[in-house]
Amino acid sequence: MPKIYFIDVTNRDGVQTARLGLSKLEKTMINTYLNEMGVFQSEFGFPTTRHESFYLQANLELAEIGVLQPIRLGGWIRAIVSDVVETFKLVSNIRHLNLSISTSSQMIEGKFQGRKSGDDIINDMGETVDAARALGAETIGVNAEDASRTDLDFLIKFGLAAKEHGADRLRYCDTLGYDNPFTIYEAIKALAENVGIAIETHCHGDLGLAVANSIAGAKGAIDGGQDAYINTTVNGIGERAGNADLVAVILAATKSKRFAEKYQLGGSINLSKAWKLARFASYAFGVPIPINQPGVGANAFAHASGIHADGVLKDPENYELYGFEELGRGDPELVETGREISAGQYSGISGFSHVMGKIEVSFANREESSKVLELVRYANVEAQKPLVADELLFIAKYPKIAKKLLTLAPLE
Ligand SMILES: [Zn+2]
Repeated sequence: MPKIYFIDVTNRDGVQTARLGLSKLEKTMINTYLNEMGVFQSEFGFPTTRHESFYLQANLELAEIGVLQPIRLGGWIRAIVSDVVETFKLVSNIRHLNLSISTSSQMIEGKFQGRKSGDDIINDMGETVDAARALGAETIGVNAEDASRTDLDFLIKFGLAAKEHGADRLRYCDTLGYDNPFTIYEAIKALAENVGIAIETHCHGDLGLAVANSIAGAKGAIDGGQDAYINTTVNGIGERAGNADLVAVILAATKSKRFAEKYQLGGSINLSKAWKLARFASYAFGVPIPINQPGVGANAFAHASGIHADGVLKDPENYELYGFEELGRGDPELVETGREISAGQYSGISGFSHVMGKIEVSFANREESSKVLELVRYANVEAQKPLVADELLFIAKYPKIAKKLLTLAPLE
């Protein structure tokens, strides 16, 4: 029986959102939390964008030393051969790629203005898959941008060509959030049946349907005999109205009525990391979690009305579908209400040692602590807000990798 996997695209679609962004250290922390959670793949960035090079290399090093394992780290590029060449020039050991090209006549005509036909699109994609494979890509996903407004017969032709060139997955991008659960189910089932390749769903929330469409799309892929790879972002952060929220999709796939009887997750997801991940992403993006967010919102387990409170106290299952403990909630949190010393870009050694002592990090000597402090200062310059304990721990534990992450060298 085919299974459902998750490809989180926070570090690609999330960070390209207007008004929002993450530091390279924050992106790295997201990758480590996704890995702890059991997410199959993180689309960790843009290999042809030069300011990403050191970050991407550093994260691949973390994979090599077993820190970012077993998660796969996948890059996103355009489906043109020059992007593949640039990718392997800048990040030579990248092994997983998604290649993106527009497939709808709206976009082919609207973007290329008569310079490209549908056949040109298929040719470009095929050549790019060949080039990526020749240069060392181990898995290749081919993204059909605006798939939901693409003629289905053309999409099947496109998918068959991708498969013929050896692509591993076809990404069905509902780029504008135009699908509904019924249309995406039909389209993806037809693709799975006619192309015979694993299908990724990539859903947006312009009509409030991103999670529902992801679940319906996954059902379509599996009913059509293929594995489903659902694209998500943490807290649903993404362009315009956002993407399918990771935690909400996991909850829907595992807790909704009868779905999990037939449609099961491949690999195990550790949902108890959800709270930590959602809170970190909220802090890093500077975007509060909505009070009514599934699973991780402040009100997700709050009851006030007499009948509900009485019912939930007698038996939580009266008014709750799942327990807060499952999401890693419920631990007391220490909040400093008195004097606070934080580590920033202008910190000195004494304040820094105090901060690190509080999270039980000690250094062999002053030289070592000065080195780590210097890295923490740089991390602060980039993040422009106090680092969280996990970030400080990361820098103390992997100073060489942190140094690489924090290196920005323009105009080289
Ligand atoms: Zn998108």
